Amino acid sequence: MTDKVDLLVVGGGINGVGIAADAAGRGLSVLLCEQQDLGWATSSSSSKLIHGGLRYLEQYEFRLVHQALAEREVLLKNAPHIIRPLRFRLPHRAHLRPAWLIRTGLFLYDHLARRVSLPPSARVRMAPGSPLKADIRECFEYSDGWVDDARLVILVARQARNHGASILPHTRCTGAQRHQDYWRVTLQDAGTGRVRQVQTRVLANAAGPWVGRFFKDDLKLQSQNRIRLVKGSHILVPRIKDDGYAYILQHRDGRIVFVIPYEQAYSLIGTTEVEFDGEPGKVSISDPEIRYLLDTVNDYFCAQLAPSDLVHSYSGIRPLLEDNRLEARQVSRDYRVELSHGDDQAALLTVFGGKITTYRRLAQAAVNHLVGLFPGMGRPWTADSLLPGGDFSDLPILICQLQQDYPWLPGDLVARLARQYGTLTQGVLQDCRSVPDLGRHFGHGLYQREVDYLCEQEWARSTEDILWRRTKLGLQFDQAQTLALQDYLAGTGDAS
Ligand SMILES: Cc1cc2nc3c(=O)[nH]c(=O)nc-3n(C[C@H](O)[C@H](O)[C@H](O)COP(=O)(O)OP(=O)(O)OC[C@H]3O[C@@H](n4cnc5c(N)ncnc54)[C@H](O)[C@@H]3O)c2cc1C
Repeated sequence: MTDKVDLLVVGGGINGVGIAADAAGRGLSVLLCEQQDLGWATSSSSSKLIHGGLRYLEQYEFRLVHQALAEREVLLKNAPHIIRPLRFRLPHRAHLRPAWLIRTGLFLYDHLARRVSLPPSARVRMAPGSPLKADIRECFEYSDGWVDDARLVILVARQARNHGASILPHTRCTGAQRHQDYWRVTLQDAGTGRVRQVQTRVLANAAGPWVGRFFKDDLKLQSQNRIRLVKGSHILVPRIKDDGYAYILQHRDGRIVFVIPYEQAYSLIGTTEVEFDGEPGKVSISDPEIRYLLDTVNDYFCAQLAPSDLVHSYSGIRPLLEDNRLEARQVSRDYRVELSHGDDQAALLTVFGGKITTYRRLAQAAVNHLVGLFPGMGRPWTADSLLPGGDFSDLPILICQLQQDYPWLPGDLVARLARQYGTLTQGVLQDCRSVPDLGRHFGHGLYQREVDYLCEQEWARSTEDILWRRTKLGLQFDQAQTLALQDYLAGTGDAS
C-alpha cells in the first residue's frame, strides 16, 4: 500500500522538524523521515547560542543579524525552559580590534532589532580577582541566548506531531521518482530494513550536510546552489570560573572563540573552522583543533588548561551556502530556500545553510513557498506558539511550584526536570507519589519513569539518545551505569 501526504520532509535536524511543524500547523498532511535519531547530526553539535552573531557585522551581514536578533526574543518567549539569556564578556585587547570598532558593533547589536528581555551592552572595568590575565583591564558586555539545541529539535518535533505530522526517526529516504504532480518516495527502516513507498505532492530536502548528496545520489538531480562543508569542534573542561559569564575571545587570526558555562560544572569551549570533504556522520576533533582552542583560552585566562583537562569533545559539520569566499569564517551563515517545479514536475523544496537561531523563520519562509500549491493552507502561526512545556513565564517560579507539588523529589532533580521539560514535568512524573514510584534508579537522578517517558514520548531508543541528546547525563554516567541502561532498553534488564 502507498501512503499519501502533502509534504514529505527528508531530514530530522532543526530545519526539517521546523518545516514539518510549520506545515502541519497550517493544515498540510506531513511525514518526516530521519535516517538516525532526531537532531543527532549538526543540530546537536552547535555552540548552542541563540544569537544575532556579533562577528557577522564585520561581514556587513546586517539583514542576517537583524533577523537573528529579532528571533532571539521570539525563541526566549516560546521556550523559556530550554532557552535562557546569557551575558557575554568580550575582553578588550586594543591591538586586536580597537575600542571604537567594538563600541560601534555593539551599538548596532543593541539597536538592529527590538530588545525586550535582554539588557543593553556595557563597558566594564575588571576588578581584582578577575579570571582574566592582568593585562586585560576592561571588557565589553552584551547579551544573547543559550539553547539546549538537541532538546529544541525534540520539542519542535513534538510540536509537529501535536499538529498531526508523522515523525519517523531511523528511516532513511533511499530514492524518489518524480511524476507530474507527485513524488513516489522510497523509505527504508534502519532497524528492520523494511521498505515502504509514500506518495507526496511536495518533497522537502532538509538533509543539512547531506543536502548535495541527496540531490545527486538519491534524486539524480543537479542543484543551482552548492554548500560548503566546514567542521567545527568544541571541548568541555571543568568550569573555569563560576562567575556566570560567557566569554568571547578574539584570536589573533581574526576568529573568535566562545567559553560558555555548561551544565552545572563545565565550560564549553569552541569553535573551530576546518574545511571538510568526508562523510558528515563520521566526524571528530583533531589534535590541532584541541591545541587551537586551549591556546586561545590560555592566552586570556589566568587558569591554564592542558589536553588532560578535557572531559568531552564533539564536532559537527556546518552546511554553509557556498558563496566562493576564500576563508570558511567569511562564508555567510544565511540560508536559502529553493522551490523547483515546472509545469510537468512535482515540487521540490530545498534548504541550504541556516542557523539554529533562524530555524523558525527558515521554516516559515519554506512553507510560504507552498501557498500556490495549497491555496487553502493556513497562515504563519509559529511566532506566537509556545513550544511544548514552555507555557510558563519564570523558571525559578516553575521550579518552586514543582517543589511544592512534589515535595519528596530531591531539589536538584526538580531543577533539572524543569529545565528540560518545563511544564511537561507533570507528564514525566504522572501519578508518582514517592521516590520508589519512579522505579529503578540508573544513576545521577535518572529513573525508570523518565526513561520510559523518553521512549514513549520523545522517540528515544538508545543510551546515546537518552544520555547525550534528551539529557546531558552522559557527562556523569560511568560505563557500568551506561551498560545497565542499555540492558534495560534492550528489554533484558531487571526493571525491579
Ligand atoms: C560547530 C557548529 C557551531 C554552531 N553554532 C551555532 C550556534 O551557536 N547558533 C546557531 O544558531 N547555529 C549554530 N550552528 C549552525 C546550526 O547548528 C546548523 O545550521 C543547523 O543545526 C543545521 O540544521 P539542519 O537541520 O539543516 O541539519 P542537521 O541537523 O544536520 O540535519 C540534517 C538531517 O538530515 C538527515 N538526513 C540526511 N540524509 C537523509 C536521508 N537520505 N534520509 C533521511 N534523513 C537524512 C541527517 O541524518 C540529519 O539528521 C553551528 C554549527 C556548527 C557545526
